[in-house]
Amino acid sequence: MSGDGNATGPAVRRLADWEADELRALAREYGTPLYVDDLERVRENHARLAAAFPDAEVLFAVKANAGRHVLETLDDAGAGAECASAGELARALDAGFDPADVHYTAVNPPAEDLDYACRVAAEHPALTVTAGARDTIERLDERGFTGRFCLRVHPGVGAGHSEEVSTGKDVKFGVPADEAADVLADAAERGFDVVGVHAHAGSGISADQLEEHEAVVSTLADVARESGLDLEFVDVGGGFGVPYHEDEAPLDLDAVAERTRAALDGIDATLTIEPGRYFVADAGVLLTEVNTVKRVGDATVAGADAGMTTLVRPAMYGSHHPIRSLATESRATENVSVVGPVCESTDVLGEDRDLPAPERGDLLAVGNAGAYGVEMASQYNSRPRPAVVALGGETREVVRRRETLADVTLAEDTAEDPYP
Ligand SMILES: *Cc1c(COP(=O)(O)O)cnc(C)c1O
Repeated sequence: MSGDGNATGPAVRRLADWEADELRALAREYGTPLYVDDLERVRENHARLAAAFPDAEVLFAVKANAGRHVLETLDDAGAGAECASAGELARALDAGFDPADVHYTAVNPPAEDLDYACRVAAEHPALTVTAGARDTIERLDERGFTGRFCLRVHPGVGAGHSEEVSTGKDVKFGVPADEAADVLADAAERGFDVVGVHAHAGSGISADQLEEHEAVVSTLADVARESGLDLEFVDVGGGFGVPYHEDEAPLDLDAVAERTRAALDGIDATLTIEPGRYFVADAGVLLTEVNTVKRVGDATVAGADAGMTTLVRPAMYGSHHPIRSLATESRATENVSVVGPVCESTDVLGEDRDLPAPERGDLLAVGNAGAYGVEMASQYNSRPRPAVVALGGETREVVRRRETLADVTLAEDTAEDPYP
């Protein structure tokens, strides 16, 4: 690592801030599509979170980007890891995280996941297991679990919010706040070492949702108080928003921290936060090459070699990701849709973008691809997944090679092999 490891950097790194020459050189050297993760930016994002929440335990929600390069960087920076599956747990431990800094969050966990987590917990009693259903607690008990336990609570709070959460799929997560004290007592009776309560409001934290965040945290504080247990931590989850639109202001972390502290209202327990995207979103770009340009009527469509299998958020959630042309000469601007190579009409990276008139061979950079990019990539259309290059100051390294067609058929070709 070069430079000051504690530098917190600017509050947001815009797509325009990436060095165009460097991105073009990376695409030339490693081909496209290509994910580029800047590990110094990951460090800066961690440092900014740690500075805003100086007394908190800061965990990285691994599912945002489980690459070993990211995990090693954040372990080294001092973060812990929040893992949502056996696979993430295995990767976090492999990357070197101390089990004392690792939480496993069980969401309707398949038996294999629970078996694995219980084995890890038996071997490393410092691991924390979070569960949000009575069934999961029973299944942990059946496996002889007596380790550190945290209860995931469904806050179900907020005016105008209650209807959605009482009927919607949101109830998938956590036990209702008004049952929490009862469930916590049950877990303690079963011999679990009850250490914390948890809530993660999937909707995300943004400037106009601070009230909602405060309500969630204050419900959690009520649960902690009512439990009568001497809890070690209160985990308020992740969901720290990043500006996906270029003109959107970055999240005011200090404001979030202040609201969080206010809502905890003197609770004598460590505050735990577990953002995912905040650490990695603006640390990553996706590079893609235009191979087809169509102009039909008023519409211009740029067909690129990356699409919904590379970055699914636009297709899946209608999410906006900034797109920048890396063309070297200046051109008139056009209204462009950027689409991918998959035979699906949802295979879109961005619509209605003002971009320099695209030409075949142009390079495009897609911003905020460091979170839920490669992690949600698929081989749909039998398309091998792209490589990942990690930048670390003066170094650049392929940390995940480009897949080949052989990778796509690997499980077929080895179907007779015993399960490893
Ligand atoms: C997904 C998830 C996170 C991280 O969410 P971000 O929006 O990436 O910050 C944190 N905690 C839990 C339990 C999650 O499921």
